[in-house]
Amino acid sequence: MQAAEADVLVVGGGPAGLGAALAAADAGADVVLVERYGFLGGNATAALVMPWMSFHTRRPQPPRLGDVGLFPTDHGEGEPVVAGKHIEVIDRLIEAGGALPPSVATGYTVPFDPEVFKTVALDLLDASGVRYLVHAFASGVRTPGRAAEVVFETKSGPVVVTARATIDCTGDGDVAAAAGAPFEIGREPDGLVQPMTLMFRLVGYDAAAFGAYVGEHPDQWRSVHGLWDLVDEATAAGDLDLAREDILFFGSAHPGEVAVNSTRVSQVFGTDVFELTRAEAVSHRQMSQVAAFLRDYVPGFADSYVAQSGVQVGVRETRRILGGYVLTGEDILTARKFDDVIARGTYPVDIHNPHGKGTVLRSVPAGDAYDVPLRCLLPRDVDDLLTAGRCISGTHEAHSSYRVTPTAMATGQAAGVCAALAAARGCAPRRVEIGAVQAELIRQGADLGSRGHEDAAAVEA
Ligand SMILES: Cc1cc2nc3c(=O)[nH]c(=O)nc-3n(C[C@H](O)[C@H](O)[C@H](O)COP(=O)(O)OP(=O)(O)OC[C@H]3O[C@@H](n4cnc5c(N)ncnc54)[C@H](O)[C@@H]3O)c2cc1C
Repeated sequence: MQAAEADVLVVGGGPAGLGAALAAADAGADVVLVERYGFLGGNATAALVMPWMSFHTRRPQPPRLGDVGLFPTDHGEGEPVVAGKHIEVIDRLIEAGGALPPSVATGYTVPFDPEVFKTVALDLLDASGVRYLVHAFASGVRTPGRAAEVVFETKSGPVVVTARATIDCTGDGDVAAAAGAPFEIGREPDGLVQPMTLMFRLVGYDAAAFGAYVGEHPDQWRSVHGLWDLVDEATAAGDLDLAREDILFFGSAHPGEVAVNSTRVSQVFGTDVFELTRAEAVSHRQMSQVAAFLRDYVPGFADSYVAQSGVQVGVRETRRILGGYVLTGEDILTARKFDDVIARGTYPVDIHNPHGKGTVLRSVPAGDAYDVPLRCLLPRDVDDLLTAGRCISGTHEAHSSYRVTPTAMATGQAAGVCAALAAARGCAPRRVEIGAVQAELIRQGADLGSRGHEDAAAVEA
């Protein structure tokens, strides 16, 4: 069996894994990042989740259509609350011509080109000295209750990576679950998770023609979704059987292109290969139907076609690994603050109905942000492990907010810092003083609001 060693092992190369690896290296650790696909980016590239959601505080009133272009959201023009590695990545994407900066015109989202993201991620890892291995799937740990030795299945046979601290950035909490950390899946009381969506890039889109249609039918397009009358017409004609309530799409970094988020497969679990198989089959057929609907019914799309679909159906929610604190929907909606803050978020509670049509959207108070405490990244029962990204400790409601890319990167950066400090001190991540983690995060440019902790109390998970 082949083997490698590192101070810090990061499993998963999505937004959280990228943030974690860059931060751990910046904090002085020798880092290995391992990813199952042949490229980096996670949902942002594999599932074509192309807009970075807003990381700005919400404005008091949603913008009116026409004031701010075709793709406004109700975020901004408030303060940004996520900085650090996340801003480094966005700046590099913009420099490379692969993203638009957040502004009124983009609804404070960051539309980016996933192909540019893949290369920027490699460049950043190379520049920071992170070693990486792709095409390697974490299938288990060698010692139950510990994550120090993770086993990867590869084309060359199994590879074992041994590390002083491991960070599970798989989105699904695969390593944490294998090591025996407790977790929850789905909502109370029925355990259902948010639906999956196969996203796709549609090119040949005429923004002026679509804008003219929306200008004449302002009741048919709100924020980045709508077209209710056309959906009804196509449904009555038997041309469309939409699994969600309306059409949702985002502008991209390139003119003439949109990212469509309108397929929906409910009651499927992303940790079950048979259900994933069903989701791929259903969502690809839905994609063909939605693309035909846009082409045949919606002004501005007559010459459009699907240029690319996700390498895989986008999985919103799977395991939530239980940590020293479980972040709740109430924490999000009251913009709760914690002494052991390591990241902040502003994105609403956004639950795509686990059963069928409908989406619940509940905002963080205007002008404010919530904290994510370090305890949410420290799994119970497994000492040498941290989690980051969408598998951290929270309820189904809280997860629907912190799952977005900016917050995932911010928790990744925090996990990377904590793991690097733990490795340097030869202690468990939960024994690292919160003051030291916060000080290093601030040195790395992270935004912790005004509550960076001064004292050196150990965080007990
Ligand atoms: C359809 C959809 C639409 C969304 N829309 C938006 C949006 O518009 N804006 C926004 O900001 N966010 C959006 N999100 C949320 C956001 O994309 C994700 O939640 C975010 O990517 C989470 O980052 P992550 O790094 O935690 O996980 P992921 O992005 O899931 O990354 C996990 C990485 O780990 C790898 N991996 C998994 N298992 C293993 C294993 N066992 N071994 C090795 N590697 C492994 C994966 O290949 C992947 O690279 C959306 C999500 C979905 C699914």
